[in-house]
Amino acid sequence: MSVYLHEEDLPAGILAEGPVAVDTETMGLITARDRLCLLQISDGRGDEHLIRFGRDSDYSAPNLRAVLADPARVKLFHYARFDLAAISHYLNVVATPLFCTKIASRLTRTYTDRHGLKELVKEMLGTDISKQQQSSDWGGPVLSEAQKDYAASDVRYLHRLHAEFVTRLEREGRTKLAQACFDFLPHRADLDLAGWPEVDIFGHS
Ligand code: MN
Repeated sequence: MSVYLHEEDLPAGILAEGPVAVDTETMGLITARDRLCLLQISDGRGDEHLIRFGRDSDYSAPNLRAVLADPARVKLFHYARFDLAAISHYLNVVATPLFCTKIASRLTRTYTDRHGLKELVKEMLGTDISKQQQSSDWGGPVLSEAQKDYAASDVRYLHRLHAEFVTRLEREGRTKLAQACFDFLPHRADLDLAGWPEVDIFGHS
């Protein structure tokens, strides 16, 4: 159960087979402006890997990009829409197939409007995670221990949440609808990048 920090790429062959949990940290919320600083990835066996990209990175990261593009690996995200845009823009790869715990939450936890990761982990897994480092400077030369812990905790619970949501989606008869939403997400991220960020193109006005 360790957190590993790598520079510019994931070492080859260190992840077990199967789904991987993925999250990103950037300089801000505007993808084209705010560079990708960190990508967190975990195979769910207890270790988290943080890959840091420098200010002048070329984002070539061949090992990481191969994992993200692997059609045999489901990528687990919380709010995949944002991460997909960052991964597409900087790493030039479409991280599919995918599962998004935020969408799964919206489709099953209709008794609440609280769908943040912290809320899901607390209610469904009974664990408290801190969000204190969420808005911190991810672009500096050294990441603090608090930043590394926070970044790792954002992927640490996604496998367990995924398993729980698979059950809940099945129970509520929304598995197919969820999959259709996941399949559309790369296009939703493309719309964000292409200039339709907060416009509902399905809306009447
Ligand atoms: Mn995060």
